[in-house]
Amino acid sequence: MPSLQRPRLAVWKFASCDGCQLSILDCEDELLALAGAVEIANFPEASSAISEGPYDLSLVEGSITTPHDARRIQDVREQSKFLVTIGACATAGGIQALRNFADVDEFVSTVYASPRYIETLATSTPISDHVAVDYELHGCPINKMQLLEVISAYLAGRKPAIAAHSVCVE
Ligand code: SF4
Repeated sequence: MPSLQRPRLAVWKFASCDGCQLSILDCEDELLALAGAVEIANFPEASSAISEGPYDLSLVEGSITTPHDARRIQDVREQSKFLVTIGACATAGGIQALRNFADVDEFVSTVYASPRYIETLATSTPISDHVAVDYELHGCPINKMQLLEVISAYLAGRKPAIAAHSVCVE
């Protein structure tokens, strides 16, 4: 008899502080239960083991600040059936979006001894500026109970029961 395939979960990091990924790790017992319900196929913060896509559910932390990441998010989108952005960086550009109102070239030449090696974009932008996003979970960091609700709702095939902008830090 064929074994039931568990949905494949992937967690991705872009420009961010890792705080939202730490919220996932902070789920502790719930994460163990989750590990029984899904296959955690890619979660670099928790494990160096990476399993190739496609993925059923991708959680994306961080904003887009480099040409490399602008290409990488396209690849993540192509490999993901359902894509959820987690946290203020991913949903709104994060604190690093302060650069959007300044001269990035001036920053780079002031901070780095060899600015010619720095490849960066003039802006920090949310993931939804680059690819289609299926659900946005706000917060800085995200609320772990809300994250568990998003994952549970995905597994149950229903809409998450979370009030829009219920975590008011963006
Ligand atoms: Fe860190 Fe906040 Fe960005 Fe999450 S939203 S990665 S906690 S800065």
